[in-house]
Amino acid sequence: MKTLEHIDFNNKKALIRVDFNVPLDADFNVTDTSRIDAAKPTILKVLEDGGAAVLMSHLGRPKGKVNPDMSLGHIVDTVSDIIGVQVKFVSDCIGQEVQEAVSGLQMGEVLLLENLRYHEEETTGDESFAKALSENGDIYVNDAFGTAHRAHASTTVVAQFFPNQKCFGYLLAKEIESIAKVMETGEKPVTAILGGAKVSSKITIIENILDKVDHLVVGGGMTYTFVKAKGGSVGDSICEDDKMELALTILKQAEEKGVQVHLPVDVLAADDFSNDANTQIVAVDQIQDGWQGLDAGPQTLENFKSVILQSKTILWNGPVGVFEMENFAKGTIALGHFIDEATQNGAFSLVGGGDSVAAVKQFGFLD
Ligand code: AMP
Repeated sequence: MKTLEHIDFNNKKALIRVDFNVPLDADFNVTDTSRIDAAKPTILKVLEDGGAAVLMSHLGRPKGKVNPDMSLGHIVDTVSDIIGVQVKFVSDCIGQEVQEAVSGLQMGEVLLLENLRYHEEETTGDESFAKALSENGDIYVNDAFGTAHRAHASTTVVAQFFPNQKCFGYLLAKEIESIAKVMETGEKPVTAILGGAKVSSKITIIENILDKVDHLVVGGGMTYTFVKAKGGSVGDSICEDDKMELALTILKQAEEKGVQVHLPVDVLAADDFSNDANTQIVAVDQIQDGWQGLDAGPQTLENFKSVILQSKTILWNGPVGVFEMENFAKGTIALGHFIDEATQNGAFSLVGGGDSVAAVKQFGFLD
């Protein structure tokens, strides 16, 4: 893996894809600077080497049109404060004005380009747009972890125009090291906990981890596709009938590979998808019509706890209940406590996915 450490940026202009897709309030103030803070070490490395940084990012979903509400101009002062350098700004990401701004950029300076997604060519991964972007720097650095999986012009496609002069930023490198600690060098037992709404959105993860894990803990909405496939009654719970075959295949593959699968045994069922619904604890495979499972039940949590506390490596993706509603957040909070305890006992734990990270922040498990 080629990282920043392998490159000397002295006298070079680094074109850095950052993820500055930050939340703004009604007055366009940045309300959470985490993503800017996360990119800071990469930007500082370039400057400390004696180089200049050209930053490119998207903000929101302007869908190929100029939209002043989604201008990166709103965040210039915040980025300047965080980096400690007055950031320059140019009102496009390609074109003559940009070329002039880039060629006038002095070493030690930082230039922020306007929202990439003002051009629809960004998300379609257009080659000539990517080539135009590539002219904004001598070396390409990708540090936009949140968008690195997309074949967009500023990520995958632009990299082609830097055959050798490219690398990962610190943030991306750290994420890759972390996932390798689970997928390649994880101390056994390795446990993956998969929750969230649907089997269909997690299927590629499941297929990829079956060769790597000892335990697969399944929770959340995807539970019911497995339970119904095995012949249980799931009432009105979220269920993908067209994925039941797939669920059975996963269970069979897991068995062949010696992976122990832990499904919920009981759930907190509700008579409505609402925080104020009536609730009862029922067996996972005996949910009546008119009821839906919205959180893990107490016996399930006990079972999950014992698996998690004996694990040395833990990967968590997806809440085990509808944690956005207070009355159905208890399972996800409990799971956070178990992972916390295992981590304090020496396990390595990695949490991924927007909802899971939101839950980790919301319930105070970030440290
Ligand atoms: P994902 O993005 O696939 O990780 O799914 C996260 C979403 O799954 C969250 O919004 C949760 O509210 C939802 N979820 C978790 N458990 C359930 C459930 N039992 N029924 C419906 N939605 C659920």
